[in-house]
This record gives sequence, C-alpha cells and structure tokens, in this order.
Amino acid sequence: MKPIYMDHSATTPVDPEVFYEMKPYFTDSYGNASSVHRFGQNARRAVEKAREQVAKLINASPREIVFTSGGTEADNQAIVSYMTAVQSKGKHIITSAIEHHAVLETCRHLAKQDFDLSVLPVTPEGIVEEEALQAALKPESRLVSIMHANNEIGTVQNIKELAAIAHEAGAVFHTDAVQTLGKIPIDVKAMGIDMLSGSSHKLYGPKGVGCLYIKKGLRVPGLLHGGGQEGKLRAGTENVPAIVGFGKACELAQQNMAKRKEHLEKLSKRLQEGILNTIPNTLLTGHSSQRLPGNVSVCFEFVEGESILLMLDSYGIMASSGSACTSGALDPSHVLMALGLPHEIAHGSLRLTLGKDNTEEDVERVLEVLPGIIANLRRISPKSN
Ligand code: PLP
Repeated sequence: MKPIYMDHSATTPVDPEVFYEMKPYFTDSYGNASSVHRFGQNARRAVEKAREQVAKLINASPREIVFTSGGTEADNQAIVSYMTAVQSKGKHIITSAIEHHAVLETCRHLAKQDFDLSVLPVTPEGIVEEEALQAALKPESRLVSIMHANNEIGTVQNIKELAAIAHEAGAVFHTDAVQTLGKIPIDVKAMGIDMLSGSSHKLYGPKGVGCLYIKKGLRVPGLLHGGGQEGKLRAGTENVPAIVGFGKACELAQQNMAKRKEHLEKLSKRLQEGILNTIPNTLLTGHSSQRLPGNVSVCFEFVEGESILLMLDSYGIMASSGSACTSGALDPSHVLMALGLPHEIAHGSLRLTLGKDNTEEDVERVLEVLPGIIANLRRISPKSN
C-alpha cells in the first residue's frame, strides 16, 4: 500500500533537486563560511547565492535577508528584538488570535515583561478585519504582526491593507509568511511588509533553516549573542548545506509556482467537494476563496479529530487535526476556537494539506475511505446518539 501524505502544512519532503545541491556542502566543500581559505570561500559564495535566491522570491534585496534556524526563530527575532530595541518609544504590540504559537507565545512572553499586547479577533472565516486593527492601534503601538496565511485553516489575510493601516499609525508591520512563501506571490515592497518570516521545510527545502526579511533601514538587532555572522544579525556558524537547500527550494518554488498552484487547486477542489457532498454534517473551516492552495480543512460533527487521524493512518493516509488530545481531554486548537466554533464541532477537525506530488488517485483514495471512517466513528460515538 503506497502511503499517501497529505500533511504538507506540517512539513514537506526535500525535493531531490534541492538535496542534490546541498550534498557537496556536507562532504566536499565543508568549509566554514567565515574562513579565508578556498573551502571557506566556496561556502561563502554558496550562502550568498542562496541569499539572492530567497530575496528574489519576495522582491527583496539580498542584504535584507537574514538566515535563521527556521520560522520560529525568525518570528522571535522580529518580535522580541524589534520591540526591545524600540521600547522607549512605545510598548504596544498587536497580533491576531489565530497566529502560530511562534508568534502568539512570543508576544505573550513580552506581555509578561510589561509590554502591552492586543490580540485581534477574527471573523468566522478567519479574516482579521481592517476595522479591528484600526480600533486597536494607539500612539504607543510599535509593531503589528499578522500572519499571511493560517497553517490550520488556510485563510489568507489582506496583508497590503493591514500593513497600510499599521503604517498610518506609525507602527511597523511583520508577517509570518511561513505557510505562503513559495506558494503564492509575495512582494514585500508592493505589500508594504517591514519584516517577514519564512521557513524552508514548508517549500520542499530542509528543516532547521529559515529567514527573516528586514526592510532596509529598520534596526532589528540579533537575538543571539556571539559571533558577527549574518551582518551581526544572527550569531552562529551558518548551516551552509541547509541554506543552500533553502535557496534552491526558493528558486524552484518561483519557477514552478503557477504550475504547482494550479495542480493543488484542482486536486483540493475535487477533495473538498467530494468530502462536503458525500459526508453529512460537515463544515468547511477557513475562507471559501481567500485560501492557501491545497488546504482542505473541515470539521465533522460527532467525531473526534484524533480518531479520524488514527483510522486514516491505518489506511496509509497521513493528515492532521486542529484537535489534539492533551492530558486526557480533547482540546480544539486556539485557531478553531477563535473562529467561534462550538467545542463539539471543533473536536472533529481534519486538515488535509496537499503537495506538488499528490495525484488524482491519492484524492480518490481518500474520498473512497473517508466516508466509511466517519460513518463508523459516528456509529460508536456517544455524541451522535
Ligand atoms: N509559523 C507558521 C505559520 C507555521 O506553520 C510554522 C510551522 O509549522 C512556524 C511558524 C514555525 O516554523 P519552523 O518550524 O520553521 O520553526
């Protein structure tokens, strides 16, 4: 039985072309990018090429890209380092209720240290409304951090409009674009983005590497203390093979974006319609059209997300859920709760996130087994009786 992987928002496989580019930097050209000898200089050139590849994907200048260990570190640097640097001018941060924990927990950490935090609500489809941002801004607001697309429900925000509102009030705009980098067009200049977080493992690059885009002129100190790498903005020896892989993944994403998007939209349309038309008492979560390509997230009444995942896995199908069993109780995610879903519906969440290598056969297979799984789980569910 061929495994069917539909959890690409969690992580993606490394593209063989990406791996091919990375390999020599493990075994042949393994120099430290700060060393003056030829191995070091080869590594340096490779890092700078990757910086150009990443910058090009978002219409930035290579000097505006700092390599980090991933999306989490980039979010931390954007929020903690920036707010710490400007705190004498204001301590107010605005974010949204559906951010990834890398942003929400970082903001909450600062709130415990005497920073002022506003968490914006979202609409039932997961949109951060412009009026809500407008109403939350104060003269002390220094930073607005709103994600580009949500990792669970796939809703894509109106970033350009939100950034413009933040700027009018004198605040800087950061977006966590971990789920959108390489999947939908991003132009930091046209969208008015001051800082942007990206992560390689969501776009067929290796894990453990990402980037923070920092607009030229904005002062965002490094988070770590140590060496002067990355223009003194990220201490620590560069992970050269990973950075090379990230760069190549960005180049491939840019070249293939339209083709991949079309493929994902075709497959997810069939998957979504198939699920909603054949399984009663099912609700689509997230926005109906402003949505990440390939994201099909739904809630089934009277079942529990984790049971669905286990049953799907027994058929070799890998997906995820916004409801996790923590310490014996089923906890719907903060994202599903922020949509205003009742607990009993949010419990039955399933997220299927398609990737470039999924096929029509994969989708048909899911549509073949899922209705039976849900029907069986409902039969034994005390909630449906
Ligand atoms: N932000 C979002 C929206 C994500 O989906 C993720 C990963 O799931 C992260 C941040 C964290 O990225 P990383 O795994 O590279 O630390």
